[in-house]
Amino acid sequence: MIKGYMLIGGKKVFKKEKIVIDFPFDGSPVGTVPRGKKEDVELAVETALKGFEKVKSMTAYERYQALQKAARIIASRSREFAELLTLEVGKTIKESMGEVGRAVNTITLSAEEAKRVLGEEVRFDAAPGIKGKVGFFRRVPLGVIGCITPFNFPLNLTCHKVAPALAAGNAVVIKPSENTSLTVIKLAEVLVEAGFPPEAVNVVTGYGEEAGDALVRDERVRMITFTGSVATGKIIMSRGGLKKYAMELGSNAGVYVDKDQTGRLKELAERIGRGGYALAGQVCISVQRVFVHESLFEEFTKELCSFSKSLKVGDPRLEETDVGPVIDRNAADRIMEWIEEARSMGAQVLCGGRRLSETLIEPTVVVNVPREAKLFRQEVFGPVIVVNPVDSLEAAIEAVNDSPYGLQAGIFTNDLKAAFKFAEEVECGGIMVNEIPTFRVDQMPYGGVKESGIGREGPKFAVEEMTEIKTICFDLN
Ligand code: NAD
Repeated sequence: MIKGYMLIGGKKVFKKEKIVIDFPFDGSPVGTVPRGKKEDVELAVETALKGFEKVKSMTAYERYQALQKAARIIASRSREFAELLTLEVGKTIKESMGEVGRAVNTITLSAEEAKRVLGEEVRFDAAPGIKGKVGFFRRVPLGVIGCITPFNFPLNLTCHKVAPALAAGNAVVIKPSENTSLTVIKLAEVLVEAGFPPEAVNVVTGYGEEAGDALVRDERVRMITFTGSVATGKIIMSRGGLKKYAMELGSNAGVYVDKDQTGRLKELAERIGRGGYALAGQVCISVQRVFVHESLFEEFTKELCSFSKSLKVGDPRLEETDVGPVIDRNAADRIMEWIEEARSMGAQVLCGGRRLSETLIEPTVVVNVPREAKLFRQEVFGPVIVVNPVDSLEAAIEAVNDSPYGLQAGIFTNDLKAAFKFAEEVECGGIMVNEIPTFRVDQMPYGGVKESGIGREGPKFAVEEMTEIKTICFDLN
């Protein structure tokens, strides 16, 4: 059992009350973390305010160096980080190694951002009657940033917040998911080891409604950068008051397979299947809704089922496992209920649909799902792919857009005009042409429209969100 702690100003803080972190595969305890409360958050924010003064006075090169060093440390301890990720999140060891690699890249990209010039000259004399005034604007750090992170990518998604925040000269208080806090504590320790002032990198563990809520309400916190569900995002924005917000929320990503894709349906079924089942479907851009031209529907669904059945579901610690468990029993209960609801509304479960243990669900393909079913409307966050036939590109665009979410969408087509029309008319933060909507590289601008969120991540874009403009004007008359 790992005994986790909070990290405030570099000091390990323990508490009597603890939260147990379980291995999602079999429910065995992995470790504990303290149940942080309001007073812990208050201390962490007070500490971070001091940390901010220190990070702000580091040179750009020093911040770059510290981030580079942090990336090197994590890379050298990849296996250790990956094994902990597998225990906390239940993702397969292959997926965990992938997340560690991406986290190293996210920190490295953020290091580069520390060196960028972020301001520009302002032409004051372009206004009538103004002469002899020169100046510019700069982007300055905000101060203390509260980072609230979800369970599914505890390492890389925390890096997407903390690394750009530090690159830009801010200090942070992190409230990780109560299911997956141990990895985040390790990350914070690495950042301090790499050279950031201990006061600038704080972690308060605990429940969302306690520690998270206290962080959100604290008026000294200048920004909340949140990744998680829409419901929590809305609560945070209604309680946090006057501060900046970045909201990376859920989705039920759609992809269209156009009529000219004959001859490659096996390949597409495999790519789409991987996009739907990665991390047991618990990715914000998991493929959830597939729209296939009616002429290809039968063959595509046959290929998708054959791929789905070929996957090894089981213990995520084993190298050969393709699909691990979902995060907990409640999540599995909900996913099974949604499959049943769709079935009772007339949908057909073509393959999978069985629960293999408390948290293991077979990769599942459900077809002809009515629009009113939760499986179509909401975010399933499980290994379930909906496939519905459509008779035209226009119908596919309408169907993809029939969602409260808008994070990413994809289209497979050889028709340039169709691809362009889809990209123009689908309401999403990112459109993937001849690629699944699950595709993301860490440097690209990433974020959603509609209920999928506000703001963009990707270190360059996060730095913009995490700074504010200061205009400086000199009168030389
Ligand atoms: P969640 O919303 O349940 O929890 C996220 C975090 O918010 C946790 O740390 C939790 O403790 C905290 N929290 C809960 N209530 C709070 C409150 N009242 N005040 C402050 N903090 C509070 O989400 P989850 O189940 O951990 O993650 C899954 C969700 O995250 C899915 O909807 C998924 O789509 C989304 N997600 C989005 C992205 C993205 O980049 N858009 C990436 C990954 C996950």
